[in-house]
Amino acid sequence: MRILLIEDEKRLSHFIKKGLVESGFAVDEAHDGEEGLYLAKEETYDLIILDVMLPKLSGIEVCKKLREMKKDTPILMLTARSELDDKLEGLNSGADDYLTKPFAFEELKARINALIRRSYRQVSNALILADLDVDLVKHIAKRAGKPIKLTPKEFSILELLLRRKHEVVTRTQITEHVWDYNFESMSNVVDVFIGTLRKKIDKGYKISLIHTLHGVGYMATDKKKQK
Ligand code: CA
Repeated sequence: MRILLIEDEKRLSHFIKKGLVESGFAVDEAHDGEEGLYLAKEETYDLIILDVMLPKLSGIEVCKKLREMKKDTPILMLTARSELDDKLEGLNSGADDYLTKPFAFEELKARINALIRRSYRQVSNALILADLDVDLVKHIAKRAGKPIKLTPKEFSILELLLRRKHEVVTRTQITEHVWDYNFESMSNVVDVFIGTLRKKIDKGYKISLIHTLHGVGYMATDKKKQK
């Protein structure tokens, strides 16, 4: 899943980004409101982390503008302690949740997972397809009860495919949700990742769960005709 982080305190921003990348998220950073608004408009994100006090354009203004443009990306606002008015204004401007600084990284992660889950209309932290079971909090994938070792990127791709199981996910959608801004989208890296992912998930099992629809994209399903 891909996150836009709009925070002008660079040390805090790097700290958050590092933690999120280690947890398998792709993260783009913006250090002022204008840059943040621009990226939020031009790129595709699963979630925006938005600081309230920002140079050029405040978090409240960024949030209002995005909602006016009908951008409904979930927004988690960061506010300083005791700024009650900020919290209320933030929620009124269209933010989905807020977190008060300073916060524990684990709490940030829990809020992020909850917001993304909600936006995909998903009820639990587990994604299940046939005998494949992916725990998004513990970051563990198992097939028929056997743990599968995945890299963070493989995990993210699998997560996206399972969130949209039985639907086609295009290569562009995968690059948009799994890689950050610096990714070179002309390369065939997605196919390579899908190839290794499929080996890890399907090899040795009767039913294949990850399918390629040539010229269209990929699909996680157990309902497709098996080879
Ligand atoms: Ca700030």
